[in-house]
Amino acid sequence: VLLAYDPAKRLAKLQVQLERATTNARMLYEVLDTTPRQPDRADAPKLSVSDATVRFEDVTFGYSEEDTLKSVSFTAEGGKTTALVGPSGAGKTTIISLLPRFYDLRSGVITIDGQDIAGVTKSSLRAQIAYVTQRPYLFEGTIADNIRYGRPEAKDDEIIEAAKLSHAHDFIMAQPLGYETPIGEGGSSLSGGQQQRISIARAIIRQAPILLLDEATSALDAESESFVQKALEEAMRGRTVIVVAHRLSTVRNADKIVVMQDGTIAEEGTHDTLVADEDGLYAHLSRLQWLGGTEEQTTEGDQPE
Ligand code: ADP
Ligand code: MG
Repeated sequence: VLLAYDPAKRLAKLQVQLERATTNARMLYEVLDTTPRQPDRADAPKLSVSDATVRFEDVTFGYSEEDTLKSVSFTAEGGKTTALVGPSGAGKTTIISLLPRFYDLRSGVITIDGQDIAGVTKSSLRAQIAYVTQRPYLFEGTIADNIRYGRPEAKDDEIIEAAKLSHAHDFIMAQPLGYETPIGEGGSSLSGGQQQRISIARAIIRQAPILLLDEATSALDAESESFVQKALEEAMRGRTVIVVAHRLSTVRNADKIVVMQDGTIAEEGTHDTLVADEDGLYAHLSRLQWLGGTEEQTTEGDQPE
């Protein structure tokens, strides 16, 4: 048996940790949030997902009086990967944080399979979404607890399966207590790449049709990088993915690329159509950052091709 088994005790412990982790996550997302959030309407229906197509229609949003997103419209097709690229501060992370309703819109609509996300229950909405944040957040507890956080009712063998898919199983088994190894708050006892793979395992176990992925910009060593990349490919398989992309390989492989600038969509297309427009922002960014290999924060870890 890999995991200690005492369901009642484990559950009570997990509850405490979940509350703590939720608080951390809330701090992470809501510390600067001044927008009042609407509670669910009393008669709000549950979100019902078929192909998990996400659509932004004329979305305007701001953290303060200023508009951070201005009339943003795009469609992320069900089962496909849509990459958001653009300079730092363009609003990419803000776009994905609107989907789980961390904030309310100023105007416009976000739909999933035609249903306004503001009109369905928040819990049914969030149940359909897995979110891998730019920095993995790990809480004090065991490795198993940190993965189970993605779906508290997950069974032990499902945790192991998710860890295998995210290429985390081998390093977990090499730890003194395997899955029961305690990790400190912030995951300090693990390397950056290991922390990322745990957070990807958490997303995989969630089994949600929509995956939001904010790619890390911090450089990993080559071996970690390749494991993280493989783990992400597993997590993305068969899902609607909206990814804030920093790796050139992610951008190239995306079905659609949305280029953001100053809170608006500057361009949209595939890698090939976008580079063909030599005067466009994407072609400019490619030349300047990705192909030029400068120290821009959006290209850390990318090698010039
Ligand atoms: P990107 O991910 O493209 O780098 P962000 O969506 O993080 O851009 O940020 C867009 C703008 O919104 C920036 O000017 C940023 O400073 C601001 N911003 C981001 N998050 C918050 C927040 N929680 N509170 C206030 N302003 C924020
Ligand atoms: Mg960002």
